[in-house]
Amino acid sequence: MADASTALSAEADDHFHDECGVFGIFGRQDAAAIVTLGLHALQHRGQEAAGIVSYDGSQFHVERHVGLIGDTFTKQRVIDSLKGNRAIGHTRYATTGGAGVRNIQPFFAELADGGFAVAHNGNLTNAMTVQRALQKQGSIFSSTSDTETILHLVATSKERDLNARFIDAVRQVEGAFSLVALSSKKMIGCRDPLGIRPLVLGDLDGAWILASETCALDIIGARFVRDLKPGEMVIVTSKGIESIFPFEPQKPRFCIFEYVYFARPDSSVEGRNVYDVRKRIGAELALESPVDADIVVPVPDSGTPAAIGFSQQAGLPFELGIIRNHYVGRTFISPGDSIRHMGVKLKHNANRRMIEGKRIVLVDDSIVRGTTSQKIVQMVRDAGAKEVHMRIASPPTRASCFYGVDTPEKSKLLASRMTIEEMAEFIRVDSLGFLSMDGLYRAVGEASRNDEQPQYCDACFSGQYPTRLADLEGTDNVRSLSLLATGGL
Ligand code: SF4
Repeated sequence: MADASTALSAEADDHFHDECGVFGIFGRQDAAAIVTLGLHALQHRGQEAAGIVSYDGSQFHVERHVGLIGDTFTKQRVIDSLKGNRAIGHTRYATTGGAGVRNIQPFFAELADGGFAVAHNGNLTNAMTVQRALQKQGSIFSSTSDTETILHLVATSKERDLNARFIDAVRQVEGAFSLVALSSKKMIGCRDPLGIRPLVLGDLDGAWILASETCALDIIGARFVRDLKPGEMVIVTSKGIESIFPFEPQKPRFCIFEYVYFARPDSSVEGRNVYDVRKRIGAELALESPVDADIVVPVPDSGTPAAIGFSQQAGLPFELGIIRNHYVGRTFISPGDSIRHMGVKLKHNANRRMIEGKRIVLVDDSIVRGTTSQKIVQMVRDAGAKEVHMRIASPPTRASCFYGVDTPEKSKLLASRMTIEEMAEFIRVDSLGFLSMDGLYRAVGEASRNDEQPQYCDACFSGQYPTRLADLEGTDNVRSLSLLATGGL
């Protein structure tokens, strides 16, 4: 249920939100300190809670806290408590499954043959279905998170060893999962067969690392080895690393929104630098949707690389006509309605001198509910802009995501209920243009979208989901999957 702070956050930050980042290291004495740094670099993938599990050769140590990594993982907790030369961690944006300490990952349990921890980026689309079956056999769930399902499937598997039990578990789940798991003897990484969420392999002086993005390797000076392949499982032990492919091969469907917004621009995912892709997106947008204007202004920070690409392609000056305040946390609590309407201004302010009297191309990554866009446009007009032309660095977002992204229900997505002309009127711009689907595919290096077999997951734009949505079957509400995950149905 939304409280004052989430209402304010939604207004001030009208974006899809990736829900998680994962990081693990095996074979380094200061493992938990390294994980803390890795998670700090992945903080953009989830700001509300984080956890680390380490193993010191005789016992596991678990720390899970609500808040930012830098605030909650103090020296005392990391150095004194999280001992050992192997550790995994997770940072989360708490919506699916609800907030609260019981849903903070990694999940840890003592299984029949020892401790086992798992951290997950993604969302399982058949978690409720599997959980119901497990509950009938006597399993008791301690959280409302889909990820706990994996722990139970590993625990209840009849297979002999951990590798086989883990494979047995991941073969029974559907949806998006980039997993990092830890036992006393090994660290396991695994991507779902479609490779919807990213997961990379790195090396730090002989210690193996698994991380959601390469920016988490850069922060600790680790070497990028490669992306895990879709459907790949790697097993790291003190003897080295082994790679296996436990699923039927399928055509990959990486989340194209990682390039548009989720991943950090200094990361490379699936072999492409995110900043480069975003600039190409802006260039495609300028070609498809040109404007007779004076300056190009990004909605910072997420619109900035696309605005640079737009300005370079269009030959128009790039100006920081909006300045972002970086110190507005998601936990900011509005004391009342009197300041709630300032939500957008807490985060963005018009740079009046750059804007006054100008015809502006405003570039943003996406429009979700449209409420923020409306307020930003008004702010720019109040600062004296002569014309405001909005250009969006993705196609219209028309459908919810069920793969580990916090999305408003479909009816709240502006593009699901309005034409582009109606949206332009709603946010009060002189013109509005979205990148085409083919333009987005060109920006990631494809000639065009293959409509028969799309090369990426683009379901939030196209409505074509790459997997079955098992938990939705028998219901007629596409939002019910998330409600099921949060215990709302
Ligand atoms: S629906 Fe697909 S493309 Fe859209 S955010 Fe989710 S995983 Fe990414």
